Amino acid sequence: MAETPREPQETLSNLLQENRRFAPPDDLAAAANVTAAAYEEAAADRLGFWERAADRLAWAKKWDTTLEWNPPFAKWFVGGQLNVAYNCVDRHVEAGRGDKVAYYWEGEPEDDTRVLTYRDLQVQVNKAANALAELGVGKGDRVAIYMPMIPELPIAMLACARVGAVHSVVFGGFSASALQSRIEDADAKLVITADGGFRRGKPSALKPTVDEAVANTPGVEKVLVVRRTNQEISWNGDRDVWWHDLVDRQSDQHEAQPHDAEHPLYILYTSGTTGKPKGILHTTGGYLTQTAWTHHAVFDLKPDTDIYWCTADIGWVTGHSYIVYGPLANGATSVIYEGTPDTPHRGRFWEIVQKYKVTILYTAPTAIRTFMKWGDDIPAKFDMSSLRVLGSVGEPINPEAYVWYREHIGGGRCPVVDTWWQTETGAIMISPLPGVTHAKPGAAMRPLPGIVADVVDDQGNSVPNGGGGFLVVKEPWPSMLRTIWGDDKRYVDTYWSRFEGVYFPGDGAKKDEDGDIWLLGRVDDVMLVSGHNISTTEVESALVSHPKVAEAAVVGATDPVTGQAIVSFVILRGGAEESEDIAKELRDHVAKTLGPIAKPRQILVVPELPKTRSGKIMRRLLRDVAENRSLGDVTTLTDSSVMNLIAEKLPSAKSED
Ligand code: ATP
Ligand code: MG
Repeated sequence: MAETPREPQETLSNLLQENRRFAPPDDLAAAANVTAAAYEEAAADRLGFWERAADRLAWAKKWDTTLEWNPPFAKWFVGGQLNVAYNCVDRHVEAGRGDKVAYYWEGEPEDDTRVLTYRDLQVQVNKAANALAELGVGKGDRVAIYMPMIPELPIAMLACARVGAVHSVVFGGFSASALQSRIEDADAKLVITADGGFRRGKPSALKPTVDEAVANTPGVEKVLVVRRTNQEISWNGDRDVWWHDLVDRQSDQHEAQPHDAEHPLYILYTSGTTGKPKGILHTTGGYLTQTAWTHHAVFDLKPDTDIYWCTADIGWVTGHSYIVYGPLANGATSVIYEGTPDTPHRGRFWEIVQKYKVTILYTAPTAIRTFMKWGDDIPAKFDMSSLRVLGSVGEPINPEAYVWYREHIGGGRCPVVDTWWQTETGAIMISPLPGVTHAKPGAAMRPLPGIVADVVDDQGNSVPNGGGGFLVVKEPWPSMLRTIWGDDKRYVDTYWSRFEGVYFPGDGAKKDEDGDIWLLGRVDDVMLVSGHNISTTEVESALVSHPKVAEAAVVGATDPVTGQAIVSFVILRGGAEESEDIAKELRDHVAKTLGPIAKPRQILVVPELPKTRSGKIMRRLLRDVAENRSLGDVTTLTDSSVMNLIAEKLPSAKSED
């Protein structure tokens, strides 16, 4: 039953002022999948802990050695053999759960829906695996997948996993040249795509982009095309094959072969927020162990009753680990949604929650801030009393956004888990556990059982409680990247060279007085103002805590007096007017919240912020604007015209007192 929502304004300010921590709700605590003892068990015997997590999977051959660690190269569950697709699909059918829904798929056009049970999924994956064999794709071959959010996307991934082919999913919004470079880097021989997909109310084309990309990649032998939109596309009869012609006529029987625990499962290129994309390599046994265990623990998943929805695109790691592999390994029922949150109206997400009675929702801060901007009245129109756990991933979540999410989406009763991890880590690393640990708005809290992470100073020494520095991971973990595809040296240089013998993710963090961890954004973004390190995240969160601000991005610009000075770009909330006084008001608000040293030199009110295609703020470009430089590479932006709108604002920038 839904609780009566509390008065929003009052709740927000109270919660923030108290620096509130939320205790685990009693009903969850009584029945949580994991107990507090897991932390002690894992601390006493980390490898034993991960062995028990691996035992949740079905192994064709048990491993001999749990971990072989030749820093920084790890092998987990050495000698073990398993099949990922068997674990994600067949074993549930064999256990009598074939009629259970694996995916409720919701297309963007309304009433365009499909329901796939685990048995349906088995039939489709088997047929697709047989189709791969007919196309000459086998163990170790690379397959690029460039698709919209339709069921054939996870089916294609699972078919690859089944035959031991290595998939490389490229987000369907990337350009032909981005796709081409990823096809080339991995030397893919097959591309799986669709004629198009539906986004923002109209069909978008994918096949022409593939045509352009493969025109210059002679290694690609075939292009397998799903018909989704029925639009006219050009066709190369020697190379292109329709999915419905090839896959539908295959046998629905396929014998899954076991693969080594360290057999490559997939390559996924990082989004390119910080430079040339890196082909992150994940392997079989350790990856599935940690994605399945974390999905079970962090979301407290009850496969028989939960309806789980992760809103990420499968083209990002969040979709790989928490739409495909983790949930299916656990036998969960998930929702997949093809489109955008504002099509055909801004309540679409909440309509989906209401329709499927979603119990667990996993989304990103960028989406939450957008919903805040659109207004509280939109979610209030829907019945979301089914929800019980909420998750956040992708960026630090501003405390204001956290509290809004908890109150307006979670009805004040659902714990919010802020999950820190990366493409490279493969699975969640730092997060509260619902029903087990406390949670604080804005904090990822503590490393999960079995994960040894810390905050260190620039010499690599652990900082005391209350101190800040660099996040590091001190021991290998099962789902860690094994290398950068084809470039061991870059793997060592990028992640293992900043501090001796420990993994450096590139993020800044602090420990509060209780020892809980707060992520402070990428270290490249940290500002040095008059000799003080100031985190962009903290200034942004201070700005977002002002009632008139919906979103904020902060960068350090060169300053003759202070070294760097803080320049802020803000989007106002719906209804707030841009006025002469707003800049002063916001600057004073930051000074009051964080201290005078954090007072921004400039505040620019802008209509939009530059974001990557995965929705993260691209501060690098804002730094260029703030320092009057010409813009660097803008190809990973969702909308490059945003930068013109922002640049126009610059002459009117108020450089105050
Ligand atoms: P690239 O590596 O190409 O620049 P990216 O880092 O944005 O792209 P991802 O691997 O998807 O690609 O994102 C991981 C990063 O996102 C983390 O290193 C961190 O900076 C940020 N991040 C993810 N989740 C959280 C979180 N819960 N809190 C704070 N930061 C987070
Ligand atoms: Mg990264």
